[in-house]
Amino acid sequence: MTRIIGVVSGKGGVGKTTLVSNLGASLAKDGFNVAILDANLTGANLGLHYGLISYPISVHDVMKKNAALSDAVYKHPSGVDVVPASLSFEDILDTPPVNIGQEIKTTFADKDYVLIDAATGLDRETLNAIDMCDEFILVTHPELPTISDALRTKSIINKYEKKITGIVLNRVTKKDELKKDYIASFFKLPVLGVVPEDSSIRRSIEMKTPIVLHNPKHKVSLEMNRIASKISGKDTKIENITVWDQIFTTIFGKKKTK
Ligand code: ADP
Ligand code: MG
Repeated sequence: MTRIIGVVSGKGGVGKTTLVSNLGASLAKDGFNVAILDANLTGANLGLHYGLISYPISVHDVMKKNAALSDAVYKHPSGVDVVPASLSFEDILDTPPVNIGQEIKTTFADKDYVLIDAATGLDRETLNAIDMCDEFILVTHPELPTISDALRTKSIINKYEKKITGIVLNRVTKKDELKKDYIASFFKLPVLGVVPEDSSIRRSIEMKTPIVLHNPKHKVSLEMNRIASKISGKDTKIENITVWDQIFTTIFGKKKTK
């Protein structure tokens, strides 16, 4: 069955689009059939990560019922099917968010994964993106204001009674004080990966190719691959924060070694 995974955050600019573009390519390299879709209608840029600058049909046309979803699919040589949103200001103004979840399920019935780049905030655009997904990855920086926004997003998803597979900490530096285990127990969610702050990400966006494709041995690429493996189950060592882990942490101040 196709897994439709929304990549969400509390704040914009934390790395959702970077994660969607790289995880899509990593999963495709692992042999999975993958589509990625830009549901950030007012801040579209997923296509740019794959070199799509001008394209005749976009998610906006699908939502306006001017085109079928299959017409908005652009095949990348990596094997990833990219569904970009429109960069045009007019399209942004005259396209209310529409739930195309059923069309996603039918059009991509042959896919293993559809990764959806969601909008940020609590407005209709974000809620519509959440509505279209079955499960989520929450992206955050390891700093308090971003985490508090991410907690709000977690609460919304909980209201929808949908599953959050885990958290990705992005743009992590050595100076960051909030550590992975603390954040995992705080959110009561597994941390799927810790992506370092690295200027190569910006370069890869300039090159219009996800870093996992043009520099596969880079530490960022290796971490993206590890996250993809955890999502697909290729890596079965997802750290599940159990009640016993939490009790152990409370009593002894550190995580029990298994
Ligand atoms: P979002 O989709 O959440 O708004 P983006 O993926 O567009 O975030 O990333 C926002 C900016 O941060 C981009 O300019 C990107 O180059 C940069 N960025 C993302 N992740 C990293 C990272 N790990 N290291 C350095 N820069 C990053
Ligand atoms: Mg984005």
